Amino acid sequence: MSQQLHFLLIDDDRKQATHTEKLLKTVGNSLQLEWVADLDRGLERVEKGDLDGILLRISDNVPRAAIAQLRGANRTIPIVVSVTQNQMEAAAESLRQGAQEFIIEEFLTAERLLEAAKYAVDVMKNRVALEAANEQFRESDLRMRAVLNASLDCIITLDTKGHILEFNPAAENTFGYTSDELVGRKATQLFDSSRKKTFPIDALQQYQQYGENPEIGRRIEIKALRKDRTDFPAELAVHPVPLEGEPMFTIFLRDITARRNAEEGQKQYAAELERSNRDLEQYVSIVSHDLTTPLRAITGFCQLLQIDHHTHFDKKAQECLTFIVEGARRMRALIDDLRTYSKVTTKQKPIECVACQEILKDSMNNLELEILEVQPEIITDNLPEIMADKTQMVQLFQNLIGNAIKYRSERDLQIHVLAERVNCEWVFTIRDNGIGFNPEETDKIFEIFQRLHVDEDQYSGTGIGLAICKRIVERHQGRIWAQSVPREGSSFIFTLPVVPEERVTER
Ligand code: ADP
Repeated sequence: MSQQLHFLLIDDDRKQATHTEKLLKTVGNSLQLEWVADLDRGLERVEKGDLDGILLRISDNVPRAAIAQLRGANRTIPIVVSVTQNQMEAAAESLRQGAQEFIIEEFLTAERLLEAAKYAVDVMKNRVALEAANEQFRESDLRMRAVLNASLDCIITLDTKGHILEFNPAAENTFGYTSDELVGRKATQLFDSSRKKTFPIDALQQYQQYGENPEIGRRIEIKALRKDRTDFPAELAVHPVPLEGEPMFTIFLRDITARRNAEEGQKQYAAELERSNRDLEQYVSIVSHDLTTPLRAITGFCQLLQIDHHTHFDKKAQECLTFIVEGARRMRALIDDLRTYSKVTTKQKPIECVACQEILKDSMNNLELEILEVQPEIITDNLPEIMADKTQMVQLFQNLIGNAIKYRSERDLQIHVLAERVNCEWVFTIRDNGIGFNPEETDKIFEIFQRLHVDEDQYSGTGIGLAICKRIVERHQGRIWAQSVPREGSSFIFTLPVVPEERVTER
């Protein structure tokens, strides 16, 4: 050992102490001694610290409890006792009380003393390390136990044969067993073995044999059995616990009754919603058909009167006929818009990849007359390809651009159609420099039949267009809103996910 050791020598015989010191000098200075004559002074010195060990010479003056007292002063200081051949009893007693080594005075050599000192230091070092490791283990065991106890999930530990080793409080609550009732029993009794899908007990041994098994670590849904033999749906995963020797397994299990009920409720709700949407569409379709036929007759006969029999009518009567035709036209528009609105969720086409430029082109074709008349400047920027129902997207762009044209101001009309990618979404903006609207009414305009500009002569409409837009955007998992400054213009903004979720949500 290259390290120099500094021991305290407690010896009430001055001559003997000097002898020991001299003896040591013959083997260099690997062990240095600092002498005190009695235990009291020895204790004082030990408390000051900075010592590697103690060499205590047992004599009649040394009290029996000396080792215990020295241990009290320093729990981890190595102690070597020096005894005579006749004091072997005292040597054994010292070891019992906490000394690490003893030497026999009659056979004392410098080498033996050095060896005893080193040995005592090593033993104590190992003991301290062991105690620290034990303490660490105790702490991590306590932490693990706290996690086990606080966990809301059932945590069940098993051996490779599937015997339960541990059953945490959440498992006790869920299954109705106490831990004592189950420890040592097979885990299979917690599951309904009559079902095709039951607890994969064989997987544990196979895992032990081959080091892998597809069932280990996989999430499975299974029927679990309570103590009263009622069953409940559970989700579990079995994980190996990496230990030396035979592995253990931990089951993490959760009662998913509430989730299942919620899913069931959601399914029922979705089915009901779909049925009611279908009923609505059917209803709208029948009503609109029933209404359209007499409406067509009214318009046709009125036009006949206007053209073929106009000589029979005075100016006032002619004006009335014009009102009737105009009213019928508005009613027709209302019926058509309602039909479109009801079809958004029922007449869906599959989601496909489609270029926005194409969507824009189609919607502008549908607005051909208005565009020819108003000649707006349409500026597009960065229009991407999107995943969407093309027909509905054409309807969306057409409604928004149609409104921009309809609610234009005296200025030359400019319409910007822009898209920007923000994280996982495309954000589209359709901006005009038209008459704008009161921004406090923003939410209202997306509701069905809500119109802010009600002068029919100037701005004809049904109040359904933006409600249709909202339905289409939401059906595509997006959001729509508007901003406006009166007399300066409006922006209609909507988002679409870059990659839509597989199932298009019903609204
Ligand atoms: P409609 O145009 O048939 O009245 P919409 O649902 O399309 O119905 O629009 C609702 C209301 O929102 C309109 O009546 C109008 O007051 C307002 N609005 C829609 N688009 C614009 C726009 N681009 N500029 C100003 N106001 C608009």
